[in-house]
Amino acid sequence: MAALEATLVIGDLLGERANVEIHSTRQDFVYRPHSVGMPFGTAVKTYDLPALAGRCGAEFHPDNIMSVDDSARLATTFHGTSIPYDHLLFAAGASRRWPISGATTFWGIGEAADIEEIIGRFKTGRIRRAAFTMPSVGDWSLPMYELALLTDAELSRAGVADYELTVVTPEDRPLQLFGTHVGDAVASLLDRRGIEVIAGAHPTSFEGGRLQVAPDASLEFDEVISLPRIEAQAAGGFIHDSGGFIRIDEHCRALHCERTYAAGDITSFPVKQGGIAAQQADVAAEAIAAELGVPIAPSPFDPILRGVLWTGHEPLYLQHRLAGEDDGGSVVSTDPPWDGGGDKIVARRLTSFLAEVDAEHDLELRH
Ligand SMILES: Cc1cc2nc3c(=O)[nH]c(=O)nc-3n(C[C@H](O)[C@H](O)[C@H](O)COP(=O)(O)OP(=O)(O)OC[C@H]3O[C@@H](n4cnc5c(N)ncnc54)[C@H](O)[C@@H]3O)c2cc1C
Repeated sequence: MAALEATLVIGDLLGERANVEIHSTRQDFVYRPHSVGMPFGTAVKTYDLPALAGRCGAEFHPDNIMSVDDSARLATTFHGTSIPYDHLLFAAGASRRWPISGATTFWGIGEAADIEEIIGRFKTGRIRRAAFTMPSVGDWSLPMYELALLTDAELSRAGVADYELTVVTPEDRPLQLFGTHVGDAVASLLDRRGIEVIAGAHPTSFEGGRLQVAPDASLEFDEVISLPRIEAQAAGGFIHDSGGFIRIDEHCRALHCERTYAAGDITSFPVKQGGIAAQQADVAAEAIAAELGVPIAPSPFDPILRGVLWTGHEPLYLQHRLAGEDDGGSVVSTDPPWDGGGDKIVARRLTSFLAEVDAEHDLELRH
């Protein structure tokens, strides 16, 4: 997400003066936020990444960047090739790992069938209690709440009467990253829908029908569905935090670097989310354009968290400014409080760009 967003903004600011290359071994761009709807019948869009890159104005190279040398302005690929650059934005995302042994981990489209299977067992009365959980507080928790709410909507539409759904979260309250105003609204929605929330609970393993929760609780469920744990990707030439994520300044320049930037899940900013990745990409792109003589004052990173919560009924649009102490500017609404429509990736340029591509249906891969 960050690489495409930055390419679009660089294109807007510099036009044909910039030669942009995207390096990645991945050949597709999956619209990952929609994957939570897949077990309930939503199609997930997948685009041809080289074609998408071309349409953004970038040359696509099918190789991964393993390290950078900022002073020599050289990047090294997995196969050892050196690539010279004037400016580089590292946006390699994060890895996802199994967090809780014995639980079903929901990573995205690959696990839609597992969730469908669990729903099927509810419908035939083979199970009646499921927990939805996640390993750590800073991870993007929205899909966990969506899976619980969408499961509830599906079971109630199917006329299943006897089921219990519980969210077991290490957060202090639902959607903690969004602050108290949004968290309270979502807590009351879950309450109205009969979904119990156990907060401040760190799940460790699920065995023999019992979910172990640190420090010393043991909860009984038939099924546990967990989000994955997010881990850093290895990358040489950067200053990392203790978790291996790349440290950046307020313009998303990698620490102790002049021409090398980082954006998105790979950075040490604790919130791993697509909209945040895109905002970092915008900040880095502006800083690069300013260095290349574009007459703008590059904006510093001032993150606003925006999310679209699929509830199984009307979606809720959530917004919260992450800097500052209070909830001023926090919004929960049934209409998007931002420009650019109601889709899940909220980005200055990528949202409208993907909408244009969708309108032409030309770069979408159909399975
Ligand atoms: C189930 C689920 C639901 C989500 N829902 C939402 C949502 O509703 N809203 C939202 O904003 N976010 C959501 N997210 C989070 C969002 O998908 C990520 O935060 C976002 O994709 C991060 O963007 P990024 O550019 O940092 O990394 P990515 O989008 O992960 O892109 C990184 C790219 O770099 C490539 N790469 C990896 N290593 C290298 C390398 N060494 N060299 C070159 N390329 C490399 C990868 O193959 C990948 O293509 C969701 C995530 C999941 C799993």
